[in-house]
Amino acid sequence: MLKLPVYMDYHSTTPVDPRVLETMLPYFSEKFGNAASKNHSFGWNAEDAVAKAREQIAQLISCNTKEIVFTSGATESNNLSLKGVAGMYREKGNHIITAVTEHKAILDTTKRLEKEGFEVTYLPVGADGLIDLETLKAAITPQTILISIMLANNEIGVIQPVAEIGKIAKEKGIIFHCDAAQGVGKIPVNVDEMGIDLMSFSAHKIYGPKGVGGLYVRRKKPRVRLSAMMDGGGHERGMRSGTLNVPSIVGLGEACAICETEMEQENLRLAEMRNKLQNHIMSELDEVYLNGHPEKRLAQNLNISFAYVEGESLMMGLKEIALSSGSACTTATLEPSYVLRALGVGSDLAHSSLRFGLGRFTTHEEIDYVGKRVVEAVNRLREMSPLYEMAKEGIDLKSVQWTEH
Ligand SMILES: *Cc1c(COP(=O)(O)O)cnc(C)c1O
Repeated sequence: MLKLPVYMDYHSTTPVDPRVLETMLPYFSEKFGNAASKNHSFGWNAEDAVAKAREQIAQLISCNTKEIVFTSGATESNNLSLKGVAGMYREKGNHIITAVTEHKAILDTTKRLEKEGFEVTYLPVGADGLIDLETLKAAITPQTILISIMLANNEIGVIQPVAEIGKIAKEKGIIFHCDAAQGVGKIPVNVDEMGIDLMSFSAHKIYGPKGVGGLYVRRKKPRVRLSAMMDGGGHERGMRSGTLNVPSIVGLGEACAICETEMEQENLRLAEMRNKLQNHIMSELDEVYLNGHPEKRLAQNLNISFAYVEGESLMMGLKEIALSSGSACTTATLEPSYVLRALGVGSDLAHSSLRFGLGRFTTHEEIDYVGKRVVEAVNRLREMSPLYEMAKEGIDLKSVQWTEH
């Protein structure tokens, strides 16, 4: 039986997998020790649990367990990477390269660094959402100390050519950071093959708990050093002090282990459902546009613009489905998504877009329901739209002389 509301916003967050919750529970109660307590079994048990989580993560991303720093999530990992590199390598140079479609946890951090005197280049993206490697190469200067490009985009799901970026960074001796919050656990990641030096990830995007994540920090070729944002205790090789959140770290480890064994199957299943939803919507409606590269994207993601429909009205008509629209209520005004705008999507189409985020617990029944409801809602709104009617009658809207009232 279909249960309402339907959750289709998995890029925003995911529920904790029951298997993950199960492994976490003892670490809240009987196994409550501090992983830094070296004198008794409570501490040793906690330390062992954290060590196991490190193994599970290292396995998933093909790194050494010593290269993982636990944080509160990808926002903190991004801050630690950018500010940590900026602080540590300032004498070497003051130039950072990133892209216009990065997450706010990158863009707001680089904005702060600009105020502190750093120069930041924001690479544009093509209509498919991908950066251009020649443009990246041309942006590099002798002052460049860091390149930060995400693995998969949280709005449109496109997957950047990370291995190629890593190769370019290596050749130039520049540190490469990758925000992989939407990539780790969803697509295969190998930090050596991808030439990644720093990589952010988060538990709550992959069926782990909120408020925990990690940062991969390369220890060899090169040995990356970061200036810490917090002082005290010297945990996590001095890069991130503070008593470790053992239950959450156990959850993150287990979430990674499950992703590793199930990723391949899950991706096949999700791609099939996503394609079914996409075909359903695109075959029954005209004037709808897929946002982002049609192939180089996550199996979990579908982002579509619906012409002649107001995004907010569409969302209102779909209250029993949890979705994200291409409008961000960041301020008092409704801004169209900066990611879609960067692809060259017009303001109207950006406002009229929906992001469908599929995940582990999405069912075929939900896919059918969502497809049907979206088609109905769009048709209903278009019936009330004089613009859509005019367009259907073949009137070129750009040529219309609007009278002012
Ligand atoms: C969710 C997300 C973040 C922020 O992660 P938190 O763990 O919630 O701080 C950063 N980058 C991307 C691409 C994300 O999707």
